[in-house]
Amino acid sequence: MSTVMKLPELFGSMVFNEETMKERLSAASYGAWKKCVTEGTSLDIGTANEIAEAMKQWAVEKGATHYTHWFQPMTGVTAEKHDSFIAPVGGGKIIMEFSGKELVRGEPDASSFPSGGLRATFEARGYTAWDPTSFAFIKEGSLCIPTIFCSYSGHALDKKTPLLRSMDEVSRQAIRILRLFGDTETKRVTAQVGPEQEYFLIDKELYNQREDLRMTGRTLFGAKPPRGQELEDHYFGAIKPRVAAYMKDLDETLWALGVLSKTKHNEVAPSQHEMAPIFSDANTACDHNQLAMEMMKKVADKHGLVCLLHEKPFAGVNGSGKHDNWSLGTDTGKNLFKPGSTPSQNAQFLLFLAAFIKGVDEYQDFLRATVAFPGNDHRLGAQEAPPAVISIFLGDELNAVVESIIKGTEFKEAGKRTLEIGVDVLPAIPQDNTDRNRTSPMAFTGNKFEFRMLGSSQSISGPNIALNTIMAEELQQFADELEQSKDFQADLSKLIKKTFTEHQRIIFNGNGYDDAWIKEAEKRGLCNLTSTADALPMYTAKKNVDLFVKHGIYTKEEINARAEIHIENYTTVIGIEANTMVDMIRHDILPAVSGYATDLCERAASKDALGASCKYETTTAKEIAKLTDALMGACDKLEKDLAKVPADPTKAMAYSHDTIIADMAKAREAADKLETMTASDYWPFPVYSDLLFSV
Ligand code: ADP
Ligand code: MG
Repeated sequence: MSTVMKLPELFGSMVFNEETMKERLSAASYGAWKKCVTEGTSLDIGTANEIAEAMKQWAVEKGATHYTHWFQPMTGVTAEKHDSFIAPVGGGKIIMEFSGKELVRGEPDASSFPSGGLRATFEARGYTAWDPTSFAFIKEGSLCIPTIFCSYSGHALDKKTPLLRSMDEVSRQAIRILRLFGDTETKRVTAQVGPEQEYFLIDKELYNQREDLRMTGRTLFGAKPPRGQELEDHYFGAIKPRVAAYMKDLDETLWALGVLSKTKHNEVAPSQHEMAPIFSDANTACDHNQLAMEMMKKVADKHGLVCLLHEKPFAGVNGSGKHDNWSLGTDTGKNLFKPGSTPSQNAQFLLFLAAFIKGVDEYQDFLRATVAFPGNDHRLGAQEAPPAVISIFLGDELNAVVESIIKGTEFKEAGKRTLEIGVDVLPAIPQDNTDRNRTSPMAFTGNKFEFRMLGSSQSISGPNIALNTIMAEELQQFADELEQSKDFQADLSKLIKKTFTEHQRIIFNGNGYDDAWIKEAEKRGLCNLTSTADALPMYTAKKNVDLFVKHGIYTKEEINARAEIHIENYTTVIGIEANTMVDMIRHDILPAVSGYATDLCERAASKDALGASCKYETTTAKEIAKLTDALMGACDKLEKDLAKVPADPTKAMAYSHDTIIADMAKAREAADKLETMTASDYWPFPVYSDLLFSV
């Protein structure tokens, strides 16, 4: 990446964006594309051909030789299949060719992507279709075309299709509400998302020596190092030169791809960092977050580093999450979660706020399920940010407003007796840019909600599909009611008051880590789904299936298929971790500790022959022998239990959670104790202090 290039020229230089389209397409084709994006009309083949030709020419000028439909199957990562542009023209010569048909539709063999049973084997092919709302870009010599991925029967096989559906639906319902407030201009309401991405960077050479990191992305063993994050000196600390060079390279790579990478800083744990982009529409944010995760890994490799996106690479230090900042914005430039400056704007804000609070309360179990997978179990419900119980933090000012409305009592800040909706102005509600509440899973931060339960490695699509759809449902209910109203002002006030009152239990402004809160939450009847095994069955609870089917986001088959994929994935991941553990115990740890104990015994014998004391050697050797037996026993049990995983997916998930994970904890306990007793030379792989302070 050339650093001579100025940032404005570098930014988006690898993206076939709107400006480039304007430059390179005829006015008619550009207009057709624009209409397609803003109004959802379809592209005719003539236009598609012209766009394809322009895209190809642009890509070839930039050195691309291939094109690929770039899609997001339910694996949670992106997939691509590269075709070169070459077409033979006789005489051993080729030309570079790319047609509209190839642009708008590709046909990868879909049989090896998870479909949750949606694709019968006779129908192994899926099709991909260009998502014209997301720009094509060049990555490593290939023109990448963001696409949706469906089966021939039309079932969505990816994470993009339902996201687009949910964005349309929330827009439709939000506009109905805006019309009630006299807004006649807004044509589109956009779900806006800014995902903050955490990650770890470690040295590649050390990484390569750890089978667990290579196979599972996290350490399965490792005693607590003498120093972890206790000094709290890493958070926002000065960035080390090697990391700074990485971040610079990453920024430039992302900027060229049009990703609005904005903030970078050190995080709480040693070797932990964060990158945050400027928010964009949810679809672009999702594409860009996938690209960012991919580039974080690739750029790290160039720097002799490895970027770990796992939620919990190291026990005992903070894990990594992803904060999903979400709001709704109009095409006229208004943020619907921004408290306004007039009574009417405030009434509208309070109605959107009420819809959000009601939705999160009613679908807390589903929201929890969207962030449920093995990696995230190490964070949620495991004494780490945030807890597994979903609640909403409003901040003192907004909470006072809500309470005043519920109680109809004195509202202190404003100095009035009651705050009348649509009559009074709200007090100033500051944007929360501080660390005031880091423990809330869903925090209002001035003009957006920050959903903090996402894991660092996961696609942000699922949680945002849920937020959009839940919001669409509540707005629809409100619109259905208020559109019939004879006295809008009075009915609006009543509706807001009623909604706040009925769903107040989901609001919590205290410390989410506090044990007392968990008890209180249970009293309030909130869900406490502490593990994936508890949370995933909620995915297909009747009310949740009904919600998504009603709004046309998933068919019943699609949502069931998704649940099945997540459930099977759980058992698969735990199985891989357990097998890796067995492998490392048998091939690395047991031989190493046995060798060390034997050497100690030999040394003891030599010393004994001299009549010298060999207390250290004998006590250590004995202790190691005891622990070695314990480790072997734990490993044997783990292996035996692994052979007994039930065939039924839901039973297998519960079994993996209850039995396999408990076995793994036993084995780890013995191994970690052995690590602390074994001479460094003998220990078969780098330990935590090496890994965490390597860069
Ligand atoms: P903090 O770092 O305190 O959490 P920031 O203001 O830096 O807060 O925002 C974090 C993320 O939220 C960024 O990605 C930012 O672009 C995004 N963001 C800001 N405003 C909005 C909004 N209205 N809707 C969605 N995301 C937003
Ligand atoms: Mg944040």
